[in-house]
Amino acid sequence: MTRPGTAAVNRQSYAEERAALHASAVLTIDLAALRQNYRKLKQAAPSANCAAVVKADAYGTGAVRSAAALAEDGCDTFFVASLDEAGEIREALPDAVLYVLTGVFLGTCPYFLAMNARPVLGSLPEIEEWAQFNSKQSERLPAALHIDTGMNRHGLTLDEIEAIAKDPAILESFEVSLVMSHLACADELDHPKNHEQRRSFDLLRAKLPEAPASLANSAGIFLGPKFHYDMVRPGIALYGGKPIAGAGDPMGAVVHLHGRVVQVRPARKGETVGYGAEHGLTRPSRLAVVAVGYADGYVRTLGSSNAKTGAAGYIGGHRAPILGRVSMDLITLDVTEIPEDAVHRGVMVELLGEHVGLADLAQMAGTIDYEILTRLGRRHQRIYLDA
Ligand SMILES: *Cc1c(COP(=O)(O)O)cnc(C)c1O
Repeated sequence: MTRPGTAAVNRQSYAEERAALHASAVLTIDLAALRQNYRKLKQAAPSANCAAVVKADAYGTGAVRSAAALAEDGCDTFFVASLDEAGEIREALPDAVLYVLTGVFLGTCPYFLAMNARPVLGSLPEIEEWAQFNSKQSERLPAALHIDTGMNRHGLTLDEIEAIAKDPAILESFEVSLVMSHLACADELDHPKNHEQRRSFDLLRAKLPEAPASLANSAGIFLGPKFHYDMVRPGIALYGGKPIAGAGDPMGAVVHLHGRVVQVRPARKGETVGYGAEHGLTRPSRLAVVAVGYADGYVRTLGSSNAKTGAAGYIGGHRAPILGRVSMDLITLDVTEIPEDAVHRGVMVELLGEHVGLADLAQMAGTIDYEILTRLGRRHQRIYLDA
């Protein structure tokens, strides 16, 4: 049996050992946990092919590294948001099936051919453009059709589908490799819209040529087998996000953030901390200044004032609450109660990881885990763990 907290202490020292001397913060991405999450999701939808959504740099984890790790576990299909993102993955994984969710803009069809990527076509003008482009090719190129079943975001409307059904030649000019739609409320298990969307998906896709179907994102997988179809498309759950609101947290943590203490300073009772002077000290205190701020994705809403509790960091397993507002590059933590030898210049503080769960941090920030992860990715040294 390991003592509680042992793993956390080890992770902190791991981050310290592996961090470049100059790194002010370290984002540790646990690729073994990512792959384990992938296997879990695959088991939850055993009859479907499990693709991976790696848009937004794989939710901030690094698209190339994450996609390559998933490919080792047999993942053969990846969804990205843009052609630029597709280009990155294509270089690393020459044989993977790549879908680009935003589809074709005017004039971008040749890029899909050059990159061997497939557009997700979500409107009639896109379909017409893809068909027109295909008529000049020697073979029919694959693309997905996105049907709108209730989000009014991407996707063909009923009118567009009926127009296509009257003119089937347009779909014969290319290969429909997938018919898909996206759920609006999948994270709420009992939301009536889930079943409405599923029924609408079945009605609408029946008007189109037969093709493999896909409806479920991460949360959709947990709505049960009726939502699995031929392919599931998880994103957030792969990266340790919580798929279903209110339910337990079945996924393993993938992303850990540690920030460097750049200064430990005493402060007097009555003094204030940070911009706006909104957090006054109610006792003589010891403060640790940490080199992570909102420009690093540690969002401003995690700050505190005398009226509002903020987030906390952990040093050697000890809780260190944030004091005052989050600055661009810095936060200040209250380390008054932490043993002096545990907090010193250069030590790494856990801001996301064992003690600070992703879902909790997002809730404290008044946002969702997706936004926390996608903002964290940019400014830190990334360390990849792969056991
Ligand atoms: C982002 C996205 C997904 C993945 O959603 P998660 O909730 O992160 O699992 C799946 N399908 C589409 C169309 C998306 O845009």
